[in-house]
Amino acid sequence: MVSFVTGAYILAALLFILALAGLSKHETARRGNQFGMAGMGLALVATLLLVLDYLNTDYLDQGPIVVGLVIIVVAMAVGAMIGIRLASSVEMTGMPELIAMMHSFVGLAAVLVGYNTYIEVADLGVQSDAVHNGEVFLGVFIGAVTFTGSIVANLKLSAKMKSSPLTLPGRHQLNLAILVLSAVLMVWFMLADGWVAMAPLALMTVLALVLGFHLVAAIGGGDMPVVVSMLNSYSGWAAAAAGFMLGNDLLIITGALVGSSGAILSYIMCKAMNRSFISVIAGGFGSDGGGPAEDRDYGDHREIQSGDVADLLAGASSVVITPGYGMAVAQAQYPVAEMTRKLREKGVDVRFGIHPVAGRLPGHMNVLLAEAKVPYDIVLEMDEINDDLPEVDVVLVIGANDTVNPAALEEPNSPIAGMPVIEVWRAKDVIVFKRSMATGYAGVQNPLFFKDNTQMLFGDAKDKVNEIVAALG
Ligand code: NDP
Repeated sequence: MVSFVTGAYILAALLFILALAGLSKHETARRGNQFGMAGMGLALVATLLLVLDYLNTDYLDQGPIVVGLVIIVVAMAVGAMIGIRLASSVEMTGMPELIAMMHSFVGLAAVLVGYNTYIEVADLGVQSDAVHNGEVFLGVFIGAVTFTGSIVANLKLSAKMKSSPLTLPGRHQLNLAILVLSAVLMVWFMLADGWVAMAPLALMTVLALVLGFHLVAAIGGGDMPVVVSMLNSYSGWAAAAAGFMLGNDLLIITGALVGSSGAILSYIMCKAMNRSFISVIAGGFGSDGGGPAEDRDYGDHREIQSGDVADLLAGASSVVITPGYGMAVAQAQYPVAEMTRKLREKGVDVRFGIHPVAGRLPGHMNVLLAEAKVPYDIVLEMDEINDDLPEVDVVLVIGANDTVNPAALEEPNSPIAGMPVIEVWRAKDVIVFKRSMATGYAGVQNPLFFKDNTQMLFGDAKDKVNEIVAALG
């Protein structure tokens, strides 16, 4: 049985690697997901078989074993029901906060596994192994940081908590003090035995919970994409730590895959946002969180109506569309795809410019456009489109705000200063689709709206694009 389970684990690990490879491209993403699902299904079956095998061992008392089995099956059924319900009802725009919540579960699981593993040793009164204790301590530490960090990320992403950074005086010293204290507690934990060792473990858990909260609370709205991928990485390491504690090889491999791919994604996001990786993972270390959003008077904005936008588009030879979070909220991707098709039929060159952090999760806009069947070859990255913008007749900014904000380049005190943006204002005409003059996710006013070549088309993006499609005939 054990060799069968080992074989199944190796196969599941291979399927997870194929899943990651598939998820790296639009064309193969669906297949990647299928590999992942198959791997997870196989892992669950193999683990259950391992539990059954263990339960069959003669020297165990059968009574509590049956209860244990029933608890596992009931827990899996309840978990599956909640998972299916949440996944089928969640809107695409609510996905990041759901993912953040899932990460918090992984963190909590690692904490519980750590405590359980140690309590078992303490209860049996056996001499504990220092290396194993080290694994328990680190697993609980990473799990607790991930737990509260993910809860704060969930609250920030769902707008239940302000997205601006919490800048406590001496915040970096506070983080450092927690790290140093935790290291001291780790030494105590590894030297102590039995129930006495629970004291440093419990103290460290409280400190790690505070650290997780503080690390994420200190990061401003604009940097949240990195936080989401960073917590993804932390949750992987928490799972790997749980794998060490439980002696489960597949959990170690899966955790390491999630941990390292999350870290690579965080690095890519940091590069895209011109942020220092170390600074962000250390809770904004070395940055002052950006200055306060200035209440500057940028002048007046101009408005335009859908019919006039349709005329402008029909007379253009080159159009670029830069979508953002508002397109996802309005679910405007289908009429946008229809408008693109009509304009291309009229001989207009239409391309999309996608900012790496547009929307609320990596690849958000690409997923929406693929869903609406916009051809991949006209969907370009920010770096591929920026240089062409001076030759473009019309840019349609559909529900994007922070990702097209010139303040990032022009105002050194802005909280988004230094972040590369799509330089839409360099085109001949810019039309901004949004419902009001409200700010974007980072809470920063956008001088683009007041530029001479910009006109605002107010209203729900889906309604407005539908009106343009109708006017194009
Ligand atoms: P923003 O979040 O900056 O702005 C979206 C705009 O859409 C708002 O100004 C809003 O204006 C408008 N809008 C909302 N609903 C509608 C609607 N129904 N119809 C028309 N317009 C609408 O968007 P961006 O995509 O430009 O920027 C993404 C931001 O999110 C960045 O700050 C990024 O750092 C952050 N972020 C990104 C993550 C990622 O992984 N991609 C994760 C977490 C955060 P109004 O209310 O006036 O309509």
